[in-house]
Amino acid sequence: MQQQEQTKLSTGISDLSTMNFDISDEQRLILNVVDEACKKIRPIEDNCYLERKLNDKVLPIFNDAHLLGLPVSRNYGDGQGADALTYALALERVGQEGTGVRTFFSGHTSLGQLTLQKWGNDEQKELYLPKTTKGQMIMAFGLTESTAGSDPASLKTNFEEKGNYYYLNGSKAWISNGSIADLHVVFAYPKGKTDSMCAFLVEKDSEGFQAEAIKDKLGLPTSDTGLLYFSDCKIPKENMLGPRGKGLGIAYSALMSGRLSVAAGCVGVAEDCLNEAVRYARERVQHKKKIGKHQLVQREITQISLELETSRLLTYKAALQKARSDADPQNVELRDVADWSIAQAKYCAANASFNAADHAVQVFGANGYSFENRPARHLVDTRVCRIYEGTDQILEQKIAIRLLGNEFESFS
Ligand SMILES: Cc1cc2nc3c(=O)[nH]c(=O)nc-3n(C[C@H](O)[C@H](O)[C@H](O)COP(=O)(O)OP(=O)(O)OC[C@H]3O[C@@H](n4cnc5c(N)ncnc54)[C@H](O)[C@@H]3O)c2cc1C
Repeated sequence: MQQQEQTKLSTGISDLSTMNFDISDEQRLILNVVDEACKKIRPIEDNCYLERKLNDKVLPIFNDAHLLGLPVSRNYGDGQGADALTYALALERVGQEGTGVRTFFSGHTSLGQLTLQKWGNDEQKELYLPKTTKGQMIMAFGLTESTAGSDPASLKTNFEEKGNYYYLNGSKAWISNGSIADLHVVFAYPKGKTDSMCAFLVEKDSEGFQAEAIKDKLGLPTSDTGLLYFSDCKIPKENMLGPRGKGLGIAYSALMSGRLSVAAGCVGVAEDCLNEAVRYARERVQHKKKIGKHQLVQREITQISLELETSRLLTYKAALQKARSDADPQNVELRDVADWSIAQAKYCAANASFNAADHAVQVFGANGYSFENRPARHLVDTRVCRIYEGTDQILEQKIAIRLLGNEFESFS
């Protein structure tokens, strides 16, 4: 039954009959809370965006709404135990407020907390997870380096073991929440080796650790992207995360959750672009008509709506497949199918959101070119979604390789 929707019927048509997108009362309740928090964030985000400064109210607003542990098990602090679909729906709503707000959320929850929850031992989870759900510790995920992006296996950060500590040396680049986080998931090789990557939990106050914000970014002015530096950074032995030598697998599993959150956020961006384009086309008059009466303007709106709905369906489908995989973690086929669906959803939604922003800017004309209006912000901010957590090119190849067979993989 579980694998039925992955197989084809005898007619060759994919069987999606077990896909159920119904929302329960409990899910609706969570989404209402998310909606209320997002309404509070909007005016603050508007101001911060125009002043190009970090929106430091996102954290307390989400925290007051008990949302900072949304996908974390209820066993830990303010964890809400949201399943993958509920989480995706929540991130879709957050995405409407902008990719900066959503990136903060994804870095903390999908890449940080869910990685700790999946791979941490009981002591690590009890020590850190409750604090992360209550806003006492913000998380970040440090995989990328200045010379290792799409190919994380080529990273250079390394560690040595001395007594009861590991000493990390190296640096990380382009880390969401990097300069504001209290707890980082960091990846490094044993010194002198290029295999057996390991993952670590690094507290911001660790000796030999430094972080700084990247200032000259194309977009995301209201959320933090940082550089991390490790100079004989002293980590207690109990802070190795997951099995020794399995760091790359840990990183890839984190990217599954991360990509789903990007896809969901991008659906939200496209939704916001649609709402803005429709509102503006109903109001703006040119040639003595509401511009919405001009058929070529109608086409812009149709294009947004088609890409929005396509990516929304792919994202919900991927979320359900992730939920099934989460419920049966030993099932490799379910995991691979979820991974593939998430790659499709992320690729499709990232492009849909960028195209939606572009169409919405067109509907707004010159007003679309101003950061006073949301389409311009979405256009620059959502561009990163085609780069981080798997570029368009990496995902295009990942999607094809599952169909062609692993022997067609051109990179490992
Ligand atoms: C705002 C922002 C936030 C980020 N947040 C995080 C974070 O929280 N944590 C983290 O670890 N990283 C983060 N990243 C880094 C991000 O994941 C990387 O930028 C991404 O993986 C791409 O790596 P790269 O930038 O080094 O590009 P490269 O890997 O150098 O790629 C350059 C170009 O070559 C293409 N290319 C590379 N390899 C292949 C191939 N085999 N086949 C075809 N084309 C290929 C790419 O698609 C791309 O077009 C963030 C980046 C940004 C911009």
